[in-house]
Amino acid sequence: MTEKMPVLFVGHGSPMNAIEDNEFSRAWTEAGKALPRPRAILCVSAHWVTRGTLVTAMEQPRTIYDMYGFPKELYEVTYPAPGLPDLAEQIRRIIKKTDVQMDQEWGLDHGTWSVLHRMFPEANVPVIQMSLNANLQVSEHYEVAKQLRELREEGILIISSGNIVHNLSLVEFRDFAYDWAIEFDGQVKNWILADDHEPIINFQKQGQSAQLSINSGEHYVPLLYALALKTENEPVSFFAEKVWGGSVSMRSVRIG
Ligand code: ZN
Repeated sequence: MTEKMPVLFVGHGSPMNAIEDNEFSRAWTEAGKALPRPRAILCVSAHWVTRGTLVTAMEQPRTIYDMYGFPKELYEVTYPAPGLPDLAEQIRRIIKKTDVQMDQEWGLDHGTWSVLHRMFPEANVPVIQMSLNANLQVSEHYEVAKQLRELREEGILIISSGNIVHNLSLVEFRDFAYDWAIEFDGQVKNWILADDHEPIINFQKQGQSAQLSINSGEHYVPLLYALALKTENEPVSFFAEKVWGGSVSMRSVRIG
């Protein structure tokens, strides 16, 4: 019997969390230590948005430096985890809500490696990524994600990586929070704890704090991938919960 794997949503914030010793990077390290050892990891990152749904299917995914203007140490981090083409193929089969295509071009973007560098520093667990399909509505993402549930029973750790509140047009790189960011982050927390996913999916109806918190959407949608994988009566906990930089929520969720 394989233990049913938990599911994580990680608020990743600045790529510097990969190399800075701070409250978030320490929380990720601890969250990683608390996990059972997975057979493989499937990441859904805010930083891979495509037309159509793709999964990385190469034997050895490259580390992608898809961020600009950071210190050179950050570009020296490599995350040499192997891929797992069989898992990519399995995902193509089990997702019926949309066509899934095998990808040989992408790799591991910083939404994935900045987190895994902390959680699984040895990079010895295979990792694949699944893209966010820009053609889907939020509710459709939720339905696609549900079809990944059986993987949890097979030792696959599913991690989605984004930020519940993410408005880079208003960000300032220091420790403070806008009131509207705290408000929306808190509302989402309460909906998660109440198992009430409908208002989270329909965030456009949630007023001005939601509008300011989600200005492009790709960092918010990964949350739905984690929530859709929750089964009844599973525990939910938060291993980080803070709004940083004014407009970035670092709230991170463990389900199961
Ligand atoms: Zn990001």
